[in-house]
Amino acid sequence: MIKLKHNIEITPKIGCSNVCEYCPQSTLIKRYKERIGGDKDTMMTLETFKKCLSTLPKHVGLNFTGYVEPFLNPETPDMLLYAYEQGYSILLNTTLMGLKKSDWMKIKDINFRELHIHLASGSFDEMIGVEIPVKIYEKDGKKVKSLSEDYYDMLNFIIQNPGNGWGQYKLDFHCLGNLHPELDELKRHFYVGERQVNSRAMNILIEKKGKVPPEENIRGNCARVYQNVLLPDGSLSLCCQDYGLDEVLGNLVESTWDEFENSETVKRIREEGADLCDYCEEGVTYTDDATWQQWRRPGQLS
Ligand code: SF4
Repeated sequence: MIKLKHNIEITPKIGCSNVCEYCPQSTLIKRYKERIGGDKDTMMTLETFKKCLSTLPKHVGLNFTGYVEPFLNPETPDMLLYAYEQGYSILLNTTLMGLKKSDWMKIKDINFRELHIHLASGSFDEMIGVEIPVKIYEKDGKKVKSLSEDYYDMLNFIIQNPGNGWGQYKLDFHCLGNLHPELDELKRHFYVGERQVNSRAMNILIEKKGKVPPEENIRGNCARVYQNVLLPDGSLSLCCQDYGLDEVLGNLVESTWDEFENSETVKRIREEGADLCDYCEEGVTYTDDATWQQWRRPGQLS
C-alpha cells in the first residue's frame, strides 16, 4: 500500500495584519467565531501547541504556513524550538512580519525541511513590509505602496545571518504575482519565484459562487486531504483552502491523533474528498490579472 506523506499546517493566530487581497481573512475571522466559538482562543498558547504535539506522531511534518503570518503570535519562536527539539520535520513560510531579530537568532539553526520567505508583491494589494503611514506612488501605470526601512533592515539581517537552510535548495524566496519593484535588486542574487493566486475554494467571498466545472474538479484526487490545518484551539480543518471552516474534522486537545485519523469522517474524506472540494480552484488555471478582477473588493489597489 502506498503511504502518503502527512503534514499539518500550523495557524497560531486568527487574523493577519498583512491583509493580502488574495487571502480570505474576513471569512476566516467570521467563521472562526461562528463555527469554533466566540469564547475560544484566537491566539494559540504554547501549552495548547504542546498538548496537540503530545498526540502527534513524528512522521507528521509541521508546516508553519497556515492561515496567518506565523510570527504574529509572539510564542511561535518557542513553538518552533520545542517542535524541533521533539524531532519533528519543520517547514517555515514567513513574510517576516512580527519577527524580531533576537527570535531569528534563536531559531536560525533549526534544520528546516524547507524555508520560504514570502516577499512583498508589486501586483497585489498587501501590507507586507509597507511603510506606515502608507505612501502610495505610481510606477508603470500601477499604484505601489512604499516599503519601510524596518523591512529592508530585517531582510538584510536574515540574509547576513543565514543559519541552516541558506544557500541550499530548501531556501525559497517567492512572491505572489510580480515582485515589488523596490526589491528588484534581490533578483540579482537569489532566484525569486512568482506564484499565482486562486480564490481559496471561493472563500475570498463570504458566500461562494457556483461549483467549479466537472472537468476541473479535483475532488478525491488531491493530496491536501493529508495536510490538515491546526487552529489556535486545537481544531483541525480540512486544508489550506478551508478559510470558511466548512470542514472542521476534529480537535487534538479533545481527542488523540489516532482517534482523529480513524474517525469515519476523516476516512471518508481521504477516500472521496469533501463538499468544499467542489468549489476548489486548486486545479484551475485562470489566475491572470484580468480574471482575478472578479474577486477584487472595492477600494483595493489595482
Ligand atoms: S479543498 Fe481543494 S486543496 Fe483542499 S482537499 Fe479539496 S481539492 Fe484539495
